[in-house]
Amino acid sequence: MDSVTQPGRIGFVSLGCPKALTDTERIVTQLRTDGYETTASYDDADVVVVNTCGFIDDAIDESLDAISEALRANGRVIVTGCLGAKGDIVRRTHPDVLAVTGPHAYEEVVDAVHEAVPPPPFDPYVSLVPDHGIKLTPRHYAYLKISEGCNHKCSFCIIPSLRGKLVSRRIGAVLEEAESLAAAGVKELLVISQDTSAYGVDIRYRTDFWHGRPLRSDLLTLCERLGELVPWVRLHYVYPYPHVDDLIPLMADGRLLPYLDVPLQHASPTVLRAMRRPAASERTLERIRRWREAVPHLTLRSTFIVGFPGETEADFDTLLDFLREARLERVGCFAYSDVEGAAANALPDHVPEAVKLERLDALMTLQAGISLERQRARIGEAVDVLVDQATASGGVGRTAGDAPEIDGAVHIDGPVRAGEWARVRITEADTHDLRGTPLPG
Ligand code: SF4
Repeated sequence: MDSVTQPGRIGFVSLGCPKALTDTERIVTQLRTDGYETTASYDDADVVVVNTCGFIDDAIDESLDAISEALRANGRVIVTGCLGAKGDIVRRTHPDVLAVTGPHAYEEVVDAVHEAVPPPPFDPYVSLVPDHGIKLTPRHYAYLKISEGCNHKCSFCIIPSLRGKLVSRRIGAVLEEAESLAAAGVKELLVISQDTSAYGVDIRYRTDFWHGRPLRSDLLTLCERLGELVPWVRLHYVYPYPHVDDLIPLMADGRLLPYLDVPLQHASPTVLRAMRRPAASERTLERIRRWREAVPHLTLRSTFIVGFPGETEADFDTLLDFLREARLERVGCFAYSDVEGAAANALPDHVPEAVKLERLDALMTLQAGISLERQRARIGEAVDVLVDQATASGGVGRTAGDAPEIDGAVHIDGPVRAGEWARVRITEADTHDLRGTPLPG
């Protein structure tokens, strides 16, 4: 009797941001193409790949803990992702790992797996992978990465040194991926990159072809076409460059979700300059007012850093005034902390820890009040909710104003189906979440 070769089984631990998740998806897709199986258990795995995050100290600790857990439970571990690009921290802490690579080093990770667990001989049945690859998100939404890297030099950020300069994907390749995701049942695309508004700059908006049609590789063209492929297209990491205004009409007529994730980080011009932020001098409040006039249901999300070196009480008050005026729907905030290798570490006038925490608390308290008012104003509204999960008594989903993982949810009291839209009447609201009942549809 012929001996039967068992395919190698690979375990995965994926930490970090959505960009890291798409890296993991790509590695899993390639390994499945090569005939490997994936497993959710350390015991079953022939080797474990840990995709790490190295952005802030907490993420580094979490990544190092995940590596040590995988080493204890399995013993054969390959490390990839942002932490892998940060000097020899992984090797120093865990000399027993089999290989260490940086972010988006798909081939190197796959090579390391091949070395640790030789691939099975090619078998067209084992190697069949759906066109859209293997996805780790639920079937109805997917992240779509349009570029890698970043051309800016924000003083608190080490991403450009980890991920390199901006490299935009060809518009044809992005649309092909979106098309196969749509064909696989994806209803919501989350467009991600380090700097979405800069899409195409590095390739001088080069013309590319999709279905034989010439298309300019720019964000407006990309969004117009994506809006024809899936019902919900959501933009993340959009810096407020002037050309972002061109996207607003697409939101007004329903071709793009009325949602913008704009990481502003601060409102004081002095702090923004010290942060070396892109588009720091744009007149943000004025722009927001115009955007809201054109798209009354626009949801704006932003993140801020308080306690940046040199931030005075007056700078902080400027930020609070901005928030009172802008009344953003979703706000995330961090107290500044040094990141190894970042230029901001060397800035003068670091803010004492206690003051940073006081400011963080003051900002979050102010914003909680704004969010609650905005959320309560929705009671009585009928909204479309994309259901992420059905439960015995109802389900949990999101409105157009809620991105998965980072924004709130709608708890639905009544029968709904996962992966479908439900029309829901909102009955209750708190700072983050809504509750409602499905309307007959
Ligand atoms: S824009 Fe700034 S914060 Fe964002 S990735 Fe680039 S350097 Fe980092």
